[in-house]
Amino acid sequence: MSSLKKALSEGRFVCVLEVVPQQSPSRLAALEQILQRGQLAGWPLLPAFADRVGVHSDLSPLEGAGGLGNPASSLLHFSGKDRERADLLLQIESMKARGLKQLLLLSGDRLPGHHPDQAPVRYLESVPALQIAREHCPDWLLGAALNPFKYREEEGGAQYLKAQKKLLAGADFLTLQLGFDASKHREAQTWMRAQVSMKPMLACVMTLTDRRAAALQAVPGVVITESMRELLYKEQQVSQAYASARSLERLALQIVGLQLMGYAGAHVSGVHTLEELLSLEQAIAELRDGMTSLTDWAERWRASWQMPGAREVCFAPETDAWEMGQSDVTATRRERLQHTLLSAVHGQFFSRTGWLSKAFGWSVTRPIWKAGVAADALHAVERTVKRPLVGCDTCGRCRLQDTLYVCPETCPKGLANGPCGGTRLNRCEFGDRECVHSVKYRIAKSANQLPVLAQTLIPCIEAEKRHRSSWPEWFEPEDTTPGR
Ligand code: SF4
Repeated sequence: MSSLKKALSEGRFVCVLEVVPQQSPSRLAALEQILQRGQLAGWPLLPAFADRVGVHSDLSPLEGAGGLGNPASSLLHFSGKDRERADLLLQIESMKARGLKQLLLLSGDRLPGHHPDQAPVRYLESVPALQIAREHCPDWLLGAALNPFKYREEEGGAQYLKAQKKLLAGADFLTLQLGFDASKHREAQTWMRAQVSMKPMLACVMTLTDRRAAALQAVPGVVITESMRELLYKEQQVSQAYASARSLERLALQIVGLQLMGYAGAHVSGVHTLEELLSLEQAIAELRDGMTSLTDWAERWRASWQMPGAREVCFAPETDAWEMGQSDVTATRRERLQHTLLSAVHGQFFSRTGWLSKAFGWSVTRPIWKAGVAADALHAVERTVKRPLVGCDTCGRCRLQDTLYVCPETCPKGLANGPCGGTRLNRCEFGDRECVHSVKYRIAKSANQLPVLAQTLIPCIEAEKRHRSSWPEWFEPEDTTPGR
């Protein structure tokens, strides 16, 4: 059994060390040293190789793990950026050939150079990716991501609803986005404890220096507030050594706190050498012995973010502070009207039961529409009718019924199952629109259909099926192949 799977099944706290695979012999030698130690403060330690982080010249996770003497314990990431089903199957086959069986599936943040108003880029979503991986690798350890650091009801609610889909699709564990708001860490634990089938969760952590915080403010889905920045800056003004010591203490505290909160482990980034690992270990040992309860820990955590002369640190953005359980948003009149009208039209034409729908279905499934000029004409008709209404891109397999009549192709990544982690106060990671999944959440809530957003697993669209009419397929008997 792989080391992460073993630790999770035994309920042992575990540490995963995130590695960005790079062509660097010195980095690899340092990593080997860390992994030879094999533990952090007595907890099992194993590497996780990130995928498509930063510049494209990075190695793939497989190449990264391949550089190790013993890669079998590695957790590999798979990012869906600009990827299709075939790319995932290829990685799975290569992993099988190397005896690797641990995979973390992510939709991924914005691909560098992806501008939605130029060439579209599609992302293989984590939900169908999990279904595909589970189908091909029933005994593997599969993980997915959750970002609980959301401060508006729509984006927070949509995150948790999508996380339910990830569990349904076969995730064995969830890894939380990097974050520093302990109330959100506790909130995610409360949510997980309410699930029918609880799964272990890990949380991403790293030392936060003033410089790193400045860079992280631009990372989608990571929340660094101005009051956090001010404190880090003041610490830096005292001295570099003081700032480093406080950052290290907070990292150690955070890991200890995660264990006390019931997390299964920590996903640690930014540790590159054995010396750094040993310093962290020492800091953890000093803190852990004197701390037995979460109450003690919370006191200590609060104090670690205080400094004479600095204002109180707030981890939520100044403008919004939604917490799970608060429920006050509703769909706008326009959103409700659009949903009512489109569902009425859908009922008439696409229910497959009434005479109008049967007649429409009969006419669009005539063999003449299957190829050539007639197929192009049908495609053009569908696009002309639906583009002004919902922004349709004629993806070839209409999913409007499962998405509250909000077209998933209006998400710059084409995500249908729910939001990625990159929203900020309901704004899309690309910054040019409100997240379509926040809109969908409001409509679903007003229409009493929130369970649809947690339970309907929407398959991915195959590249070869795009840009043709979805109507003939809609009336064909359903393909029930798992993951399709
Ligand atoms: S889901 Fe596909 S077919 Fe349906 S409206 Fe969106 S792009 Fe068009």
